[in-house]
Amino acid sequence: MTTDTMRVMWAERPNELEVRRVPMIQIEEDEVLIKVAYAGICPWDVRAFSGLSSSVAFPRILGHEMAGVVMEVGKNVKVIKPGQRVVPDMGIKCGVCKACRSGRENRCQNPVFRQYGGGFADYVRVPERNVHIIKNKETKLQAAAFVEPLACVVRGQDILHLYPGEFELIAGIGPIGLMHLQVAKAFGCQVIVSDPVPERLVKAKELGADWVVNPNETDVAQFVKDITGGWGADAAVVTVGSARLIEQVVPMLAPGGRLNIFAGVYPKDALQIDPNLIHYGEFVITGSADSAPQNFNKALDLVENRMVNTETLISHLLDLEELGKGFEIVKNRQGLKVMLEVDSNLK
Ligand SMILES: [Zn+2]
Ligand SMILES: [Zn+2]
Repeated sequence: MTTDTMRVMWAERPNELEVRRVPMIQIEEDEVLIKVAYAGICPWDVRAFSGLSSSVAFPRILGHEMAGVVMEVGKNVKVIKPGQRVVPDMGIKCGVCKACRSGRENRCQNPVFRQYGGGFADYVRVPERNVHIIKNKETKLQAAAFVEPLACVVRGQDILHLYPGEFELIAGIGPIGLMHLQVAKAFGCQVIVSDPVPERLVKAKELGADWVVNPNETDVAQFVKDITGGWGADAAVVTVGSARLIEQVVPMLAPGGRLNIFAGVYPKDALQIDPNLIHYGEFVITGSADSAPQNFNKALDLVENRMVNTETLISHLLDLEELGKGFEIVKNRQGLKVMLEVDSNLK
C-alpha cells in the first residue's frame, strides 16, 4: 500500500519552506504509521516557522493537527488496526513523571516533539497510545482534524467549572474562540462574544452565541452589565494573547467569576490589575495550555456526536504543497481555519 518515498514540507530554517521527497518513514515495534488526510494550520505553527519560538529546532517538519488512516502497525501494537480512521496526538509524553501521573500530561517534564515528525507530510508515526480511533463512520476526517485544538479548548472550558445558565464571555472569536463558544453552549451557558471583526461575529451568531458585541462600536463592559442585570460574567475566556484585553475583561467578571487566560502573550508583557477587584470579587484567574489525553478523548466525542461543528470553521482548503500560502493567510488573519488536504481520497 505504501511507497518508497513520501512528501514532506521541509523547513530548513525559519521562513524557508520546500517540498521534499524523503525515504518512507519506518515505524518502531510499538508505533503506528498513519497516512495523513487533513492537517490544520495552527497559529503556533506560524509562530514557530517564523523563528519566534526559541524551543523549536530546525530543520523541521511542522504540523500537529491532523486526521488520517492507519496504514501499518508495529509488531507490539495490540489495539489499533490498519484501515482504522484515527486522530494522532503528536505530543509524546513520558507517562512516568509527576505531571503525567497527576493527569497533567500537557505539562510532562520529558515530552518529545519530533523534529522530523510533523503532520505537514504524507505520513506520520506515533506510539499506539497516542492514537485515538474515530468511532463514528459519519464523522469526516476534515472534521476530526480539529480534535487537537478542540482538546485544548475543552481543557480551557473544564477549568472554568461552569454551571448551566451561567454567563460566559468569550473575548476573541477566531477558530479557537468559535470552538470555545460551542463547548460553552454544550455546558449550558449563556454566551456573550466580543470581537472587532464583523464576519466573525456573524459566524458566532450562526454557531449559537446568545449575544455578540463589537468593541470598536460598543462599550463591552456596559454591554455585559446590561445583559446580566448588573451581575457580570460568571466566566470568561480571553483567546487572544493581549495583556490589555485581559485587563479589560477582569472588571467585567461577576462575584466569584473565573477567567481563563487561554492564549500565550508575545512579546512578554505585564498585567496591571487592581488586586482589590480580585480580593473582594473572589475572582479566580487561571490559565490553560495544551491538552491531556482525557481532553483529547472528550474533544473527539464532541466532534463525533456533533455537539461541536468544526467543518464550518474551514475557510481555506489548500493542497499540502500550498503550505507556504496557508502560513501567509494565517499570519494575515484572513478567514478562519486554514486546512491542508493532504490526501483527498481519504474521507
Ligand atoms: Zn495547534
Ligand atoms: Zn511525563
